[in-house]
Amino acid sequence: PVDLAGRLANLLGARNQPSVVHAVSDVDLQVRPGEVIGVVGESGCGKSTLGRVIAGINPPSAGELRYEGKPVAAMTAAERKAYGLGVQMIFQNPMASLNPRMRVLDIVGEAPVVHGLVPASGKAEYVAGLMRQVGLDPDYAQRYPHQFSGGQRQRIGIARALALKPRLIVCDEAVAALDVSIQAQILNLFLELRERLSLTYLFISHNLGVVGHVSDRVVIMYLGRVVEVAPTEVIFSRPAHPYTRALLAELPELDAVRRDYQPIQGELPSPLRPPSGCAFHPRCPHAFDRCKVERPELRRLQDGHLSACHLNEPPAPAGA
Ligand code: SF4
Ligand code: MG
Repeated sequence: PVDLAGRLANLLGARNQPSVVHAVSDVDLQVRPGEVIGVVGESGCGKSTLGRVIAGINPPSAGELRYEGKPVAAMTAAERKAYGLGVQMIFQNPMASLNPRMRVLDIVGEAPVVHGLVPASGKAEYVAGLMRQVGLDPDYAQRYPHQFSGGQRQRIGIARALALKPRLIVCDEAVAALDVSIQAQILNLFLELRERLSLTYLFISHNLGVVGHVSDRVVIMYLGRVVEVAPTEVIFSRPAHPYTRALLAELPELDAVRRDYQPIQGELPSPLRPPSGCAFHPRCPHAFDRCKVERPELRRLQDGHLSACHLNEPPAPAGA
């Protein structure tokens, strides 16, 4: 089974940047086989960095990433290759990630042939099968990316990822560029493929509504830190962190029940200079003195429900 556990700490930004950006700190995340984990936060919260580290695109600068129980850093070449193929990424803008000069046949079929997953003689048939799986007419294999709609291009991106027989797919804003009606079709395709192929997903989005539609468990991030983790229904029914409640307040379909939640105020601070204490304190309607000086730890409220807020601490024992 995919046992991907990572303790990722203090990831650095690009080398040519003047300042060190600790995009993700102390994220401790276990992805279970067959699970869809949603990662939500505003842009700049470190969720893409987390996805890129898990997909092996960026190395963790500290901490450890494990895949199928093995630390990635200690893998043999063969294990590393299995990890590289086993974790695939799907991006926001399919047009930018598909080579405009290549036909779908090659976009989808080249890598599996190179990696020896299919013989060159079986490529056309292999690609046709993948196209059917993602709901595209196999006759379109001879076409180029510009001959498809946005939704169809994202299906090509999904077929390309599936071609390498992944176990875990990291979707980074995979439906953000699509019309709402197309978004729903692609989200449903992800769920169908999960059933059919026993896939696991890390589903990254700024949109809690989208994430709630597909995820079993949700991770809420703010300025490079995880602030809440819970099963999806708990995030929606009993959110513990003020930031999560603020995100819920922005979902129009929930406004009747969420009237007591206050939408988020102010701008996201620069990740280069995160506020002291609880990084959310300048925007939090419940902030008090301690929040400015002491960073709340991510603590367990119940099985599977974690939150990092001073208000979520258990009351002090009597007499203490
Ligand atoms: Fe708000 Fe304080 Fe909780 Fe941070 S620790 S979320 S500032 S109440
Ligand atoms: Mg991003």
